[in-house]
Amino acid sequence: MSDEQNPIVEEAKEHKPKLQTPPGFHDILPKDHEYFTFVKKVVRHRARQAGYRRITTPILEFTEVFDRGIGDATDIVEKEMYTFMDKGGRSMTMKPEGTAGICRAYIEHGMKELPQPVEFYYIEPHFRYDKPQKGRFRMFWQFGFEIIGESDPALDVQCIFIAYKIFKDLGVEKNFTLQINNIGSQKSRAKYVEALINFYTGKERSLCENCQKRLHKNPLRLLDCKKEDCRILAELAPKFIQYRSKEDSEFHQSVKEFLEELGIAYIENDKLVRGLDYYSQTVFEFWDAETGAQNAVGGGGRYDGLMEIMGGEPTPAVGFAVGIERLIDNMKKNNVEVPSKDDVQIFVAQLGDLAKKKCLRLIDELRDRGVRTIGALGKNSFKAQLRLADKFKVPYALILGITEVRDGTIIIRDMSKGQQRYVKMDEVVDEVVRLIGQDNLDMYSPGEIVVA
Ligand code: AMP
Repeated sequence: MSDEQNPIVEEAKEHKPKLQTPPGFHDILPKDHEYFTFVKKVVRHRARQAGYRRITTPILEFTEVFDRGIGDATDIVEKEMYTFMDKGGRSMTMKPEGTAGICRAYIEHGMKELPQPVEFYYIEPHFRYDKPQKGRFRMFWQFGFEIIGESDPALDVQCIFIAYKIFKDLGVEKNFTLQINNIGSQKSRAKYVEALINFYTGKERSLCENCQKRLHKNPLRLLDCKKEDCRILAELAPKFIQYRSKEDSEFHQSVKEFLEELGIAYIENDKLVRGLDYYSQTVFEFWDAETGAQNAVGGGGRYDGLMEIMGGEPTPAVGFAVGIERLIDNMKKNNVEVPSKDDVQIFVAQLGDLAKKKCLRLIDELRDRGVRTIGALGKNSFKAQLRLADKFKVPYALILGITEVRDGTIIIRDMSKGQQRYVKMDEVVDEVVRLIGQDNLDMYSPGEIVVA
């Protein structure tokens, strides 16, 4: 039955709107992948140099992982999670961030037995039922780093530093400001939280609706509300510095000294608290130098209390995540171009069954030598093939017809000059390699495998 007669196809044509991605979701098309691939390459390279190992946790977890690990008074858990019941009646959630799942994995696999700290990185999609707008999606990619098992402030700075190195490799380090704050240990923060509640009590009517709700659940969040009236009150609110313990102050001082040692500029921001409940001591964000907090490209901090909340032993940890779409957007806005290795170098055109057969081997040989090669194997008209070669903007085409097969030759056509010449079939691969140039060959080697 043809599509024309198929009632399902007919019905779809008549009644269904065009299929498209849901709001906040998007395709990553090949052109965008040039940036994604480059960013991932830089992240992997910097991670490997520093001894981080890659981890991937499932996209779906039991909802409790995030309820516990993120905190139920956060925007994420309150309104942004993709949560549903599976067929077994269990509440499941698509991961909105990376850290909670990684802590779950650390505990589940007994990783406290490994030499500490355990250092992870990830490059993953995340899902939040956020209001879609510029730079804010419902599915977005993050790379992130976590150092688990040690509490030295030097590790907080190691995290910041690797983010900085990655930004530098991507040519955007000057486009972001590093905002840092110290929100103390859980203990000193409890006193501060009490002082904040006292300060805001009686002023509820000046707060936005959201902050009124947050006041008794997560009062720290009132400090980074973007609404005008809330911001004015936040300016007048008690400052954490008055409640910082001696240890907190020393910790913060060390962080600043280490940053200075590495030549990383920072801005102290006493209103930075981050959205997630589990942070303690250092919190930091990278803000767009022009537009500020609305467009943070990444952030993180120390989460010494989280492992215990997740059911493990007390284990200090620090980490951060960076939004890849926002990072790429910043690169594009600042005219950073990435090298593309996707351009095809050779187009092989053929005519006749015998020529097609010969081409299969030739294409394979060229590819093995690192020449990016395609063949128009599905097209029979010679003209159509050459038109295609033009569209691919290849510098050279190889043309093999019945006569050439018989003579053991092949034609090399210089596409920009429109000139062509014959070479011997058994010399053509060397000749193409010479024309493309050793430096332009695609000779990435994944390393040798051993079959034991
Ligand atoms: P967070 O996990 O909220 O600290 O986010 C870390 C980074 O991920 C942010 O600075 C953004 O770059 C990115 N990010 C977070 N939420 C979204 C979103 N809804 N859409 C796009 N990027 C996001």
